[in-house]
This record gives sequence, structure tokens and C-alpha cells, in this order.
Amino acid sequence: MSLPGGAEWIIVLLILLLLFGAKKLPQLARSMGQAGKEFKSGLKDGYKEPPLEGPCPFCKVEVPEDSKFCPGCGKSAEDIVAEKTRVEQEAKPKSA
Ligand SMILES: [Zn+2]
Repeated sequence: MSLPGGAEWIIVLLILLLLFGAKKLPQLARSMGQAGKEFKSGLKDGYKEPPLEGPCPFCKVEVPEDSKFCPGCGKSAEDIVAEKTRVEQEAKPKSA
């Protein structure tokens, strides 16, 4: 068996065009590009700790960056960061 040559690739492309439709191919390429971009930015931000400082999501009291507990409601820093992350993800509009 030999590797596919140029003609075979054109046939593969034509089959893809038939399967997805000529209009959908640019969309497909764009969404793949977006996924790649988001993957890269995810890698870049992946090691960044979510910020603890700012208003507590439970009681809205300002929490200092290096504190272990919320000064308002006594929730642990872990709980606050987890809740903040959850709220942020919910606030994001879902991509269709
Ligand atoms: Zn609190």
C-alpha cells in the first residue's frame, strides 16, 4: 500500500465538503482555531492561583489576599476560592 497522493487528498477534501457542507467548513476551521487559542490561553493561565482577595462571595466582606479565613463569615480560603471560581464559570455565557 502506498501513501495517498495529491489526488486522494482532493477526494478526501471533497468528501469532507459533502459531509459538513461548504458553508460549515470555515466554521469548523474557526472553531478548531478558537479551541486551540483557548487551549493555549488555558495553559498560560493554568498555573495561576485564583485570587482570594476581593469581596467574599458568601458575605461580600473584603478578604485580604493572604488571609486563611474570611473576616466576615469565617469561611476558609479554599471555600472562598472554590465559590468564586464556580460563580465566575456560571457568569460566563455558554458558547453555542
Ligand atoms: Zn465571608
